[in-house]
Amino acid sequence: MPSEQLIINQWLHLLAGLNHKALSLCAWLLIAFCSIAPLEKLFTLRRQRIFRKDFIPDLWYFFFNGLFPAFLLVVINDLVIFGFQAILPAQWFTWVQSTPLGFRIAAILLASDLGFYWAHRWMHENPFLWRFHCIHHCPTQVDWLVATRAHPLEIVYLRTFSFIPMFALGLVDVSAGKSETYTLLLVVINTFWGIFIHANVNLRFGWLEGVIATPHFHHWHHANDNPTVINKNYAALFPIYDRLFGTLYQPKKIYPTKYGISTYFPDGFLSQLIYPLVWLFHRPKSPSSPASRQEPEQFEE
Ligand SMILES: [Zn+2]
Ligand SMILES: [Zn+2]
Repeated sequence: MPSEQLIINQWLHLLAGLNHKALSLCAWLLIAFCSIAPLEKLFTLRRQRIFRKDFIPDLWYFFFNGLFPAFLLVVINDLVIFGFQAILPAQWFTWVQSTPLGFRIAAILLASDLGFYWAHRWMHENPFLWRFHCIHHCPTQVDWLVATRAHPLEIVYLRTFSFIPMFALGLVDVSAGKSETYTLLLVVINTFWGIFIHANVNLRFGWLEGVIATPHFHHWHHANDNPTVINKNYAALFPIYDRLFGTLYQPKKIYPTKYGISTYFPDGFLSQLIYPLVWLFHRPKSPSSPASRQEPEQFEE
């Protein structure tokens, strides 16, 4: 088991780097804005202000999620790596590591997206998990900054399920201490692709849309037009998983006409952080259904 001292050292390291991390997040925010804002201007899907409603809370989510989920993730990663080191034979790592780097990177992306697909789908199907995930779905205007709008515990949950297949298949040689490089690579790719697929752009990519997630694909994931088009398109990178598991929705020409959720959701950053946890103490008699997103919640007296 990872020692307490190791975990404390990792936390101290993260704590000491918080200022530096906050500064680098400002730089990443500027890079994302400068690369996506011109696209949103040139290929506007829907006319809306850049500084739209909820822009400021979304900035809070961007910084909060860039800084704090890492404290829980280092502990979970240590435990997962320790578990697979104990289970998998050393020869397995040696064989996988002897395969070409390009193959391993492709396998890491494919495997992690499979983990993401199911973890994400469970958030839509389980009423308790949905209360965390509806933070991401409540905006009625979708653009690039919605990508990082999520409860910090959802970030921990989704990243854990994205990393597990990568460790389980031995694609990362944990004994060589390279796991951080690969997990960081995954986070950067997923974050930047996530920002792109949320962008308010009307850009189509022909046959490529069957291979890789695009803004059209993910905007349908945020659709709230009617019950038949919700709970579709769960993959972050590869629509093949939605095709395989029956959740793909890619109409040829049209985009959604309506985003958001129809159930109650509190305003304000702190209330939204607390909202899912209230469930534990104040459970509704008839929970709002993530499947319909229409039913009102009735709380017990
Ligand atoms: Zn979702
Ligand atoms: Zn989204």
